[in-house]
Amino acid sequence: MAKDPVCGKEIDVEAVRSGGSRTAEGVAVVDPLQGTRSLHNGTWYYFCSIECRKDFMGTPEKYGGGEATYSRPYDRPSSS
Ligand SMILES: [Zn+2]
Repeated sequence: MAKDPVCGKEIDVEAVRSGGSRTAEGVAVVDPLQGTRSLHNGTWYYFCSIECRKDFMGTPEKYGGGEATYSRPYDRPSSS
């Protein structure tokens, strides 16, 4: 089981994986804009709804997901 970091609801990951790849809204769960799971800072996060996902992606640091680094690509360290 995973936990929705926004509302705290338990997410049945196995059901998500086996029960098709669409949300109740009919979009792919991994859809970068509308899906209900998201890879952030190397960790998969699961959400009960698109609304929770939106909240998380808007302010991931608020939910323990670290900074929203994706929104500031120009801040990436140039270690090359
Ligand atoms: Zn939720």
